[in-house]
Amino acid sequence: MIKFKVDSPEQTEKLGEELAPDLKAGDVILLDGDLGAGKTTFTKGLGKGLGIKRNIKSPTFTIIREYKNGRLPLYHMDVYRLEEGGADELGLNEYFNGDGVSVVEWSKFAEDELPDDYLRIKFTRNDELGDNDRTIEMTASGGHFNAILKSGDLNLGR
Ligand code: ADP
Ligand code: MG
Repeated sequence: MIKFKVDSPEQTEKLGEELAPDLKAGDVILLDGDLGAGKTTFTKGLGKGLGIKRNIKSPTFTIIREYKNGRLPLYHMDVYRLEEGGADELGLNEYFNGDGVSVVEWSKFAEDELPDDYLRIKFTRNDELGDNDRTIEMTASGGHFNAILKSGDLNLGR
């Protein structure tokens, strides 16, 4: 597990941007943390790092938004409102095994559908430090993501 402390939305975006070059087709990234913790902000940076020109918006009401004009397709999902059986209907597995990168906000609502290999990122507010302070913890499952965490590529530009 590696842990980052950030104190601005720009830094959270930066981490996403730094992760993007290491990603490959079929990668799944799970984002957990309360409303407003920074999951979508991180995804914006990731999209930027993939070279996606469109503004990345929260997929809360659509469940999935697809962005196809970057180095890899980005499938940005918010499964907070996923209902029983909804994972099959959406074809979540096809996305996870597909030609792009899947980013899943609120992954605990799709726990039964998740693949074996993933990067899990947990966002926590640190209100006692300041409104913009967050802790970002990354846990890898599988060789590819473990290698990324060990690479030192994620360093907030330091
Ligand atoms: P989530 O997707 O987890 O609900 P968002 O990324 O949509 O959260 O919203 C996070 C909000 O908190 C944004 O308004 C953002 O500007 C603000 N914010 C303040 N500090 C940070 C930070 N360090 N990282 C991410 N977002 C931050
Ligand atoms: Mg969000």
